[in-house]
Amino acid sequence: MISAQEFLATVTESQWWDEAKLQAWQRRLLAPLLTHARATVPFYALRLNPVMRPDGSINWERWRELPILTRDDVSRNFKSMLSRRPVPDHGRLTDVSSSGSTGHPVTVRTTGFLNMMAAVCNWRAQQWAGLDWSKDMVAVMAEQNRQPGTVLGPWGPPWLAQAKKGRMIYTTYDTDNHLRLDLMADRRAAYLAATPGGFSVLADMARAEDRRIRLEAVLSRGNKATPFIQQEMAEVFGARTIEQYSSKECGTIAHPCAAGDGWHVNAEAMLVEILDDNNEPVAPGEEGRAIITPFGMSAFPLIRYDQGDRLVQGGPCRCGRILPHFHEIAGRVRDDFLRPNGEVIPDLSMEARVALGAGRWQVAKVGEHSYEVRYVPRDWGTARDPARFMALFRQAFYDEAVVRCVEVTDLALNANAKFKERTLEWHP
Ligand SMILES: [Zn+2]
Repeated sequence: MISAQEFLATVTESQWWDEAKLQAWQRRLLAPLLTHARATVPFYALRLNPVMRPDGSINWERWRELPILTRDDVSRNFKSMLSRRPVPDHGRLTDVSSSGSTGHPVTVRTTGFLNMMAAVCNWRAQQWAGLDWSKDMVAVMAEQNRQPGTVLGPWGPPWLAQAKKGRMIYTTYDTDNHLRLDLMADRRAAYLAATPGGFSVLADMARAEDRRIRLEAVLSRGNKATPFIQQEMAEVFGARTIEQYSSKECGTIAHPCAAGDGWHVNAEAMLVEILDDNNEPVAPGEEGRAIITPFGMSAFPLIRYDQGDRLVQGGPCRCGRILPHFHEIAGRVRDDFLRPNGEVIPDLSMEARVALGAGRWQVAKVGEHSYEVRYVPRDWGTARDPARFMALFRQAFYDEAVVRCVEVTDLALNANAKFKERTLEWHP
């Protein structure tokens, strides 16, 4: 397995490679993955036949004949998708689960190789964003049986002198938010890494308690950081919001372009295809399904995996990078509400929030066509306009959708960082 140090050196250069060189790199990682999957994973024993020549070489011309792997396939075939002989060199194997609002939670087995590539691609994106690895970061992390506030050492590439000075401060989703704010203040942390919902809860608390805490940036993962949340981060903490697009199954998939226009795929770590309903690649400007093949998933290969996201194909990017480019993540279906025709319901606009006179809110699906908007009132300096809100709601959702708006004073303020702006509470 290539070391993190070597891989960072590679991706620092390869972001400027031409298409042919990038494709050659991808095929160098894909070919052994395909051969390994076919030889050691029962699920793939026959599935990869279209691209396998009798002499064992790969016929790339026939790549698009490989069937798309759905979340449903993955949830039904966990055992047969496991490699019988995981690559010993690919590091620690970890089972991770991701739950989907559309009904199919999936469990996959990740490798150290996948996680290394995800970490390195993150570092490259942090360089794009101009982050300083020598500064401190408060992070909201999975429970590790440590005291909140434990200093975990560097969060940048640990072999770099500059990054050695940076400290990551451990907190979990369950850490009391007062303590989290204290840690941010006491450590003079420059960065906070968490989910958008967690950011908005902290912002509400900091505002309510008139705490003046400055951050340079918040690093957002999980759901989309809505314009409201980004605005809150700027207002309350003076922080810009840096997003990433990732999944537990595929690692870090893409990051915002350094030139501020759209997203770049981590093409050195995975193949991302954007396909229409006939499984044909879409043209620039068109939306399609993201079909992902992560090169590091050798213990549980995901070959042409449809994890349920829709992307808008980009074109040549003005930054000059050849890395595949797309414009927006049209819906992260795993956390989204769907119209009866299956379309993803977009986030309600900032205008809707102002019309309702709402600050932080939570939109819950509470019945087949029933929704509840729980909101903390906010004075936006304009008159509230409930009729306008209703019109905007109907426009974003659908005609049969019914909404009830409930004013609340405390919206999971003290609870934890698991707060979500959208939540599914109807389980038929
Ligand atoms: Zn770019």
